[in-house]
Amino acid sequence: MRVAVVGGGVIGLSCASRLVHAGHAVTVISEGKPSETTSAIAGGLIYPPGTRPFDRCAAWTSTSVAEFRGMGGPGIRMMPGRLIHAERVPDPEWTVAMDDVAWEGATLTFTTAVVDTPVYLDRLAAGVASAGVRFEYRRVHDLDDVDADLVVNAAGLGGGDLAGDDSVRAVGGQVVHLADPGLTEWACNQGLDPVAYVIPHGTHVVCGGTEEPGRPDVDPDPDVAAAIVRRCRELVPALADAPILGTKVGLRPYRPEVRLERVGDVIHCYGHGGAGITLSWGCADDVLALVG
Ligand SMILES: Cc1cc2nc3c(=O)[nH]c(=O)nc-3n(C[C@H](O)[C@H](O)[C@H](O)COP(=O)(O)OP(=O)(O)OC[C@H]3O[C@@H](n4cnc5c(N)ncnc54)[C@H](O)[C@@H]3O)c2cc1C
Repeated sequence: MRVAVVGGGVIGLSCASRLVHAGHAVTVISEGKPSETTSAIAGGLIYPPGTRPFDRCAAWTSTSVAEFRGMGGPGIRMMPGRLIHAERVPDPEWTVAMDDVAWEGATLTFTTAVVDTPVYLDRLAAGVASAGVRFEYRRVHDLDDVDADLVVNAAGLGGGDLAGDDSVRAVGGQVVHLADPGLTEWACNQGLDPVAYVIPHGTHVVCGGTEEPGRPDVDPDPDVAAAIVRRCRELVPALADAPILGTKVGLRPYRPEVRLERVGDVIHCYGHGGAGITLSWGCADDVLALVG
């Protein structure tokens, strides 16, 4: 079958991978290169903070953790870490996906994948290209104009417009990269507002972050960057002398629930909010199942 995947971020590329390996003729149509997507800004910690629907997100996370564990290699490491809450909460459904889950007071510790997203996206794009996926870099204005037997709408923030769905909103997020002093654990303090997180990737550490609903631009704010660095150095004192490498802003494609469903010859898969890397392989499996 000739399948067009609209979107070249982590969702589109993961879907393209599953589809091409199942024998379909796949074209990825994307306005931006993989390195220019929101996916390339993501810190790459694999867990789905608050993303709905909870039961499907837990299952998608399990699939992705297993996939990342099996892939290994450049850009992917399994790593222990700690998720600090203001107070102890019931175990989230997604903890079934994780190794070594334990509570220490209000801190949930577990091992999961950490994904260096620019490295990983390059790897994913090269992998699907060598498997036969074609790339077209252009904007799609109407899914009906796409010449294919089946279209996958994996356009992230653009997915709502293409589907006539006005429930998708940008939620801005700023991160700062520091040089990695050799950290062996990730950390996230969810009890703070905004949250503070530290995700090590060997060469650099992604420090965050902010959640800014409705943010229209991706221009870094130096005062916000300074506040992120301060909060992350409090969270992980080993970062005290780590040089600052740069700061980036991305727009999360927030939707009250991830949309993954088939309507005629279109499979919609967008609205992954702050968890698209986490949900990618599970969603790609479900998209493949909907192709039939
Ligand atoms: C600061 C920050 C930190 C994050 N940290 C994490 C994390 O630690 N873990 C995690 O799991 N997630 C994280 N996320 C969330 C994650 O980045 C997103 O959920 C994910 O990138 C969504 O992937 P996507 O492929 O749907 O969208 P995108 O990566 O935005 O890709 C969308 C693609 O569609 C294309 N497109 C859009 N409209 C059109 C159109 N009309 N025609 C053609 N092409 C179009 C774009 O060019 C792009 O290629 C973070 C996000 C931010 C901003």
